[in-house]
Amino acid sequence: SAVANSPLFDSVQSFLSSPKQLLIDGRWVSAKSGKNFDVFDPATDEVVAQVAEGDAADIDLAVTAARKAFDSGPWSKMTPSQRGQLIWKVGELIEQNADELAQLETLDNGKPFNVAKAADVALAADMFRYMAGWATKIEGDTLSLGVPYAPDADFHAFTMREPIGVVGQIIPWNFPLLMAAWKLAPALATGCTVVLKPAEQTPLSALRLGELLLEAGIPAGVVNIVPGFGETAGAAIASHDLIDKVAFTGSTEVGKIIIKAAAGNLKKVTLELGGKSPNVIYDDADIDMAIAGAADAIFFNQGQVCSAGSRLYVQKGIYDEVVAGVSEIANNLKVGSGFDPATQMGPLVSREQHERVSGYLRAGLAEGAQASAGGAPLDRPGYFVQPTVLKDASVDMSVVREEIFGPVVAAMPFSDDGDLVSQANDSAYGLASGIWTKDISKAHRFAKAVKAGTVWINCYNIFDASLPFGGYKQSGWGREMGHAALENYLQTKSVVIKL
Ligand code: ADP
Repeated sequence: SAVANSPLFDSVQSFLSSPKQLLIDGRWVSAKSGKNFDVFDPATDEVVAQVAEGDAADIDLAVTAARKAFDSGPWSKMTPSQRGQLIWKVGELIEQNADELAQLETLDNGKPFNVAKAADVALAADMFRYMAGWATKIEGDTLSLGVPYAPDADFHAFTMREPIGVVGQIIPWNFPLLMAAWKLAPALATGCTVVLKPAEQTPLSALRLGELLLEAGIPAGVVNIVPGFGETAGAAIASHDLIDKVAFTGSTEVGKIIIKAAAGNLKKVTLELGGKSPNVIYDDADIDMAIAGAADAIFFNQGQVCSAGSRLYVQKGIYDEVVAGVSEIANNLKVGSGFDPATQMGPLVSREQHERVSGYLRAGLAEGAQASAGGAPLDRPGYFVQPTVLKDASVDMSVVREEIFGPVVAAMPFSDDGDLVSQANDSAYGLASGIWTKDISKAHRFAKAVKAGTVWINCYNIFDASLPFGGYKQSGWGREMGHAALENYLQTKSVVIKL
């Protein structure tokens, strides 16, 4: 089999050799339907595992377990300090199992092992540690009231921050473990309980994380993990009457479906959706750094990053030089299996994604863009496409307006500041942005004017557990990471006492 022939660690082999089940109420169980689905290695198109396929019936059981752990305990009965210590332990276990988790990520998602270990796994461990500290620091306010219709009364008033309750979390396949961490850590820090659905393309690292959560001592029912498909398991989460909040990361299209499904019981909704982020290079930038940065902004993680710098705006005088520079990097990128240490770019995650990105390449070329690097899928097994730079792109093209979610950048020239800001903001999305210049005033003016949740100046794709991340416009609702993320999982109660 693919597994027996690949260079997998013993720990990964043994993880894969046992049936991959659902985590419900602290136990590993088969799906009620008895069904399983196949998980593929994107570098070979071979099946590497079968995973129990949860649907509405399993989500129901998971919600019941999460409800119990929230409504009667143990999670709600523990002190914040006890919860914080368990969350910290999860971070430590992720770090201790970093190699194994990184291999699972490479096998399941295709990304290079070294990237998975240094970025995905390290950031996931850090997220649990960062949020562990917040468990003991969630505080309300004391308020002085002046009530016009009760002028003689004296009041003492305060607010309490309470966990929202049972949270449904639906995550994508581009950073499978890290997205689980972004979702679980703040929910646990606030005292919520969770039903998590990993993406059907990449359930493996979340299931291994489930084992680590139990090993850390997170009590039964606090985190339930139910892999399954979007239209069945995902939809059951979004519409479930006993779920108080749904947190989703994925496409804008599905985000809109989630909102409608959530309306039934008006569960709270946060969304981290698509992007088409502008990355801007001025002629006063350090050009070599900017070229390398622009390439990294789009090719990192095979371009499957919601914040990818997919619209590259270059000031006129340096446009040709920058396009040539980014194209040269693209042409020299070593594309291959994520298990090969020399690989810089792996395959796309799935056959479907491969077809999607290939379709955009055909459309872009048909609409008149020129490929100055790449431009086609790679003719080999696995879901590989060429890193691609499209020049002569214009604003009416699908490759400029729509999120491709692949290693494809559309380059366009701009002449002056006004021209640039209106081009940069001419998008339905508003997730991230980048600017390369040595002029700090220019950089700050752009930071104020751009309609995006993140602005990177002379850098790109820099993330930290303390730094809020999320979207303007159709890129989403709410912020993840930082203490802003706690707001997604808390509600406020006002208490007024007449003295
Ligand atoms: P992509 O198209 O890149 O796979 P999606 O937005 O479809 O991104 O998927 C992100 C997550 O949303 C996945 O876990 C997927 O299973 C889930 N999902 C897809 N469709 C639905 C839906 N109708 N309701 C709830 N979840 C869904």
